[in-house]
Amino acid sequence: PDPNSSSQKMYDRALASLPGGNTRTTVFMKPYPIYAARGEGCRVWDLDGNVYIDCINNFTSQIHGHAHPALIKAATAQLALGSAFGLPTASEVDLAELLASRLPSVDQVRFANSGTEAVMMALKAARAHTGRPKIAKCEGAYHGSYDYAEVSLDPTPEAWGRNAPVSVAYAKGTPDNVLADVVTIPFNDTEAAVSLIREHGRELACVLVDPMPNRAGLAPANQAYLEALRKVTREVGALLIFDEVITFRLGYRGAQGIWNIDPDLTTLGKIIGGGFPVGAIGGRRDVMAVFDPRPGKPALPHGGTFSANPVTMRAGIAAMELLDEAAFARLDAMGEAVRSGINEAFHRHGVPGGTVGLGSLLKIHFVDRPVRDYRSAYLSEEEGRRQMVFSRALLNRGVLAAGNGLMALSTPMTDADINAIIDAASGALEEVARTL
Ligand code: PMP
Repeated sequence: PDPNSSSQKMYDRALASLPGGNTRTTVFMKPYPIYAARGEGCRVWDLDGNVYIDCINNFTSQIHGHAHPALIKAATAQLALGSAFGLPTASEVDLAELLASRLPSVDQVRFANSGTEAVMMALKAARAHTGRPKIAKCEGAYHGSYDYAEVSLDPTPEAWGRNAPVSVAYAKGTPDNVLADVVTIPFNDTEAAVSLIREHGRELACVLVDPMPNRAGLAPANQAYLEALRKVTREVGALLIFDEVITFRLGYRGAQGIWNIDPDLTTLGKIIGGGFPVGAIGGRRDVMAVFDPRPGKPALPHGGTFSANPVTMRAGIAAMELLDEAAFARLDAMGEAVRSGINEAFHRHGVPGGTVGLGSLLKIHFVDRPVRDYRSAYLSEEEGRRQMVFSRALLNRGVLAAGNGLMALSTPMTDADINAIIDAASGALEEVARTL
């Protein structure tokens, strides 16, 4: 903390016009957040001119880092042609075709402005398609801030059900009716999840699952777990929705390509907008028909002043085109290097914990047990303290990671950047070791 820092001064100003000086809970930091001034490649500069290697990448959206020349070109070319119209544009057809060509489960696409909206519309589409009221989602999994999607995001151990999760409100003011229509299932516990889904089967519109849920620990789903969800949803006549807002960055065909499972609906966001606000719902033609306006009022009307915004669409197309199979192979290799380098440092410094993740994503855990779900990732007070020491030390070594230990790599990173990330994490772990 430096009282003379420009970020501190900006935060003091922000306190007057923004609640708590903040307009995005996820970027809040005590005693004050670092304000970004600019970014280039994998680096970000703050208002005081300090430079950081960016492993937050706007919570995974910036897979090409910052100010990528191809994305600047695509976005500015569209800006010069007009940034928004009350008419459709060719850009939405181009991006929809590209996404459908990569995801075998996706015949058609509907665009929105955020992942939150994409999840909301997917849940509503499932209800409209099935005529059923309830949804099932995993304990601790984040899917944006639609009332139903945020149920049981952060239950404390006191609120954990004994045998199965119970639905717990995340935000104050959540109506009881919302909780009654959400079945919370455990992540990676096949037997318990299947039995809950069967129990509520006839009322369930869908099961919403993120194959590698960040907030629930970033543990990859077990193959058997996802296969069981695929099977049991068919059995009870509910839709299976994959939330790939984050996991689409895991591979050319997203998480569904890695696990080789076709969901009925997929939600997308983040990387598909090339750094601009975006969300999308994709899926089977017969399900996506709920949006079809040709017969008159659709089963599920959906507008959005900025949905399928052409600047977003053009930048998104450029971003996706840069992500060929070779780009993913390189991201995978970098992710593997960072995960094993940091795991090795945990060992060397005798700090309990390690990394989880796949591809370009990883999370650093300070728990002395395998992380498989929300509960096993849940930090004790002492583990939380270690994580805070680590986060601060990493920041002081010039590397930005999310407060919960999430790191997202980007294509402009070089081998030297990867080594610098590992060295910074190792130095930060050494600091943690000194406090044990
Ligand atoms: N789903 C998942 C899996 C997410 O990680 C997020 C955001 N981090 C969302 C949905 C919501 O996306 P947005 O922030 O664009 O509303």
